Amino acid sequence: MSYVGPDFEPPQPRRSRRGPLTVAVAALVPGALAGWLVWQAVADDSGDGAGPQQTQGAASSAAGSPTPSSTGDDKDASPTSSAPAAPTPLKGKVVVIDPGHNPGNFQHTAEINRKVNIGTNSKECDTTGTATNAGYTEAQFTLDVSRRLRTILQQQGATVKFTQNGDRSWGPCIDERAEIGNKANADAVVSIHADGAGAGQRGFHVILPGTVHDGAADTRPIIATSRDLGERIAGNFARETGTAPSNYIGEGTGLDVRTDLGGLNLSTVPKVFIECGNMRDSQDAARLTSGAWRQKAASGISDGIVSFLRG
Ligand code: ZN
Repeated sequence: MSYVGPDFEPPQPRRSRRGPLTVAVAALVPGALAGWLVWQAVADDSGDGAGPQQTQGAASSAAGSPTPSSTGDDKDASPTSSAPAAPTPLKGKVVVIDPGHNPGNFQHTAEINRKVNIGTNSKECDTTGTATNAGYTEAQFTLDVSRRLRTILQQQGATVKFTQNGDRSWGPCIDERAEIGNKANADAVVSIHADGAGAGQRGFHVILPGTVHDGAADTRPIIATSRDLGERIAGNFARETGTAPSNYIGEGTGLDVRTDLGGLNLSTVPKVFIECGNMRDSQDAARLTSGAWRQKAASGISDGIVSFLRG
């Protein structure tokens, strides 16, 4: 029976696990630090082991005494497992979302025009981004989609970090945006944008890092994983939004490879950009300015990330 397990099995593996670990740490590290580490090791061990055991123990004793054996366990298991409800497939995963540009960039042209090194060459720290003909800015769009995306990813258990959240007056610079993903050791990074192409040019595309090995830039380790991430985002974005891939970049694939973007060149973790549509085209703009459509966009991007992270 299942309640035999918690009462009977755990003490032995717990003791044997804790024993060598404690001895090894104590032998390696002298003084107070050793004490702290041993405490950490024991605390971690008992924390990992005791949580479920206590739950199971309490559950089995509570359910076990009034009701006989397996029926009691089954009855107990169903409400306990359905109570948390939402599955958290992204637990332990770190996703960095990079909302392109910054609503304040328009007022800080001197700061954002400063050149930064992107490995291959120098480039402006950041740009203002584009806007629809009616004045809805790309920076507003990217923050909105990013926040929607964050909500969905957090609901699935991911740890989500932003490069900016409208909480600073400009930037950050493209090299710092890359650095934020790198320092977070992100499992996936997506940079959210919308394009500023000519009227009649429509649809979305995902930008993948091309091979760059120059100066501080070396994309070779992230080429394959970024492509995988990008293909999954493109497919799910198309399905979820019902939007066709770009008719002006990528020859209908919805994918483009670039070696001139600092945010990709300097990344050491899987990263892509998505241009969700063309703000300068009236039909695309109608979509980009719709909250309902942006929710679908966030959902499609999220589905791609989840698919990538689950493998
Ligand atoms: Zn942009």
